[in-house]
Parts: sequence; structure tokens; C-alpha cells
Amino acid sequence: MYKTVHLKKGKEESLGRFHPWVFSGAIHHIDGRPEEGDVVRVISADGRFLAVGHVQIGSIAVRVLSFEDIVIDQVFWKERLSAAYAVRRSIFPQWKKNSSSGEGNNSESRIQESELTNAFRLVHGEGDGLPGLVIDVYDRTAVMQAHSVGMHVSRREIADALAEVLDGVIDNIYYKSESTLAYKASEDGGNGFLKGCLATANDIATENGLRFHVDWLGGQKTGFFVDQRENRALLEHYAKGRKVLNMFCYTGGFSFYAMRGGAELVHSVDSSSRAIDITRENVELNFPGDTRHEAFAEDAFKYLDRMGDQYDLIILDPPAFAKHKDALRNALMGYRKLNAKAFEKIRPGGILFTFSCSQVVTKDNFRTAVFTAAAMSGRRVRILHQLTQPADHPISIYHPEGEYLKGLVLYVE
Ligand code: SAH
Repeated sequence: MYKTVHLKKGKEESLGRFHPWVFSGAIHHIDGRPEEGDVVRVISADGRFLAVGHVQIGSIAVRVLSFEDIVIDQVFWKERLSAAYAVRRSIFPQWKKNSSSGEGNNSESRIQESELTNAFRLVHGEGDGLPGLVIDVYDRTAVMQAHSVGMHVSRREIADALAEVLDGVIDNIYYKSESTLAYKASEDGGNGFLKGCLATANDIATENGLRFHVDWLGGQKTGFFVDQRENRALLEHYAKGRKVLNMFCYTGGFSFYAMRGGAELVHSVDSSSRAIDITRENVELNFPGDTRHEAFAEDAFKYLDRMGDQYDLIILDPPAFAKHKDALRNALMGYRKLNAKAFEKIRPGGILFTFSCSQVVTKDNFRTAVFTAAAMSGRRVRILHQLTQPADHPISIYHPEGEYLKGLVLYVE
């Protein structure tokens, strides 16, 4: 049976509200010596059962898998994955068994080509009752990423359950945790296919009819950022006739929407030369020979300092500046500095898409940082849209920290 975590008196309250984390400071003692990643039972000071979850080292000591006193087995994984899949089928009715949705089969032929999408998030951690687990699906390949040792230890069982739940929908499961759990992944042989193989996996995914190489071997996160899908589509709407700077472009996501939307020129900038190489490949894939696009492998701040004032549509989508609460102050300074540069240089009548994907930076924190940057520039600025993550990145109502992506679309006079 599972080892037991005993909470201090009065520390059971947040679990009573279904918040899925137990902080180390709430723990009185633990029976036995569970290994990191083991499943444990959590009980209150007066001996009441509260939850089962994965134990881990750090300030979050237990990540809750269930508030019922159950065994975490194949039935559990299948039930949670099936629930996650059911949610995605409501969001994307076109995503069905045996449909390679990018290729438009008969029943789906009424979907416009520009709407074809086969890159989705199937599992979004706490938002799907699976803290520490992310699964993105690209055409017929699922890319699975563990952010906790518990999920890493269970990866084969999860992959078996996933293959059953998505039978006929995917052929390959790639496990990619070298960047999230470096020491564990390397102990166990690193990244690799748990089902299928590279030869059977198509590395080109389709999003709203645009095609992207997904760099699952060397890329960031699961190889692509599916969370910006709807925000990219919004950008397309504003692109006509504009000169666009896509800063922190990664593999070019926003750039191709800008090109399709009729931008006059598009410059994509990222400090990773690998990302820039793939951006160039993606241009060839979607707009072969189109000379409106140029890509630069360069640091953002250096580029913003040396660039002129020709841009009238700028995207700022930096990596998470704060990974932990302690880094919040510096992160806010970073957002302020970055946005100040854009306000300084963007043309009158320009549009700024600015984002933060740091979980610890709240919507209000971010807005204050951008507000301060705007005030420093002295320009008149209107908020046109307030953006967030798409529906396939759901937020458990009991875990507001799951709302991580924040964006503002600003009109700068
Ligand atoms: N907008 C992208 C995702 C951006 S992720 C999309 O739609 O897919 C953040 C990117 O910032 C990463 O590609 C990373 O390589 C890049 N980056 C990190 N630090 C940087 C810096 N100092 N200057 C430029 N790019 C940077």
C-alpha cells in the first residue's frame, strides 16, 4: 500500500477546495521513506483521507492525482486520458478516429483548407487532472513530456493507456523530457519513441492550413508552441500592408500568418540559430520563393537597439522570464524593459502583440509592467484585445495558477 503523508493541523484546507498541490511546509511527517515519484496517500492531522498523489522534492511536495482513495493503475490513466480526449473532441469536432485531419478526408471536406489543424494539446497538466504531464498531438504522433518524476516513472504505463485511448488516431508516441527532467531522462537513456519510430512519424503539422516542421528531437517544449494558435490567427487579421517584426519567433509561428494576411514585409528574430534555420524551412514550405520574409539569429535586446523605426506590427513573445516566485521582480523589470523598446520604436498607428507565458506573473502584474513601459514612452496606447491560452489548454477552476499565457494587443498612436 502507499506510504502516508501526514499534514500539520489546519493544513488540509486547500485540499478541501480541490487545490492539487501540497506544499512541503504543510507536512508534519511522512511514514516510511518514499522515493521521489512514488504515489503517496495524504491524510489530515486527525487521520482523515484527503488525496493520493506523486511525491516530489521541492516546495511542492505532493501533486494530487485524485481526491478519492484509489489505486493509480492502468484504469486510472485510461480514465483520465479518455476524459481529456472527450474535452478535445468537443473543442475540435473534426478530430476523430482514423482522420488524419490535415489531409481532409471525405467527411471533413467541407472544412476550409485555411482552417485545417492537426496540432492539439491533449493533456495540459493540472487542467486535465494530470499534474506534471503534457501531451501534444501532431498529426499522428503524440509528444509526451513529464514535468515531475512521478509522471516520468509512470511514462510507459501512460503510453500504453494513451495508445489504447487514441487507437486509430495516432501511430507514434515520442517521449521528450531531457529538457524538463535532465537528470532522470539521462539516467534512463534520454528522449525516444515509446511507440512507433521516426520513420513512421510525419514531422510536419498543420495549423489553420499553415504547415510547420515540428522539431521533436531538438526543439523546445514538445517541438512547437500550440498555445499561440488563436492569437496567431488574430494577428493575420491585422497584418495587411504592415511591416512586421516577429520577436522571439522560435520556428516562425506568427510570421506565416502575417505573410498570409498580406504583410508587406516580415522579419523574424530569435537567439536560437536552430530555430531560425527551421523558420527558414517553414517559409519554403508555405511560401516558396517569397522575398517578403527575412530571419535573423540574434539577441532580442541587441536587435531592438539597432533596428530602425520601420515596423508597424510587432510581436513580443519572450520565454518565461520568471520560472519561480523569487524571480518575479526581475521578470517584471524584464517585461517593462522589453516593451519600452517596442513603444519607443513602433510607428504611429502601430499594433503591438505582447505576451507573458510566466505562470507566476499574473494578468495584473503583466498589465502593470506594460502600462509602465507605455507611460515611459509618453505615447497614447489603447488595449484592443486581452489574450489568453486556447481551450485545449484548460484551467482547472480549483487551480487558477494554470492560467499562464497572457497577452495584450495594443494600438499605439
Ligand atoms: N513565438 C513563438 C514562441 C516563442 S518561445 C511561437 O509562436 O512559436 C520563446 C523564444 O525566445 C524561443 O524560441 C527562444 O529561443 C527565444 N529567446 C530566448 N531568449 C532570447 C533572447 N534573449 N533573444 C532572442 N530570442 C530569445
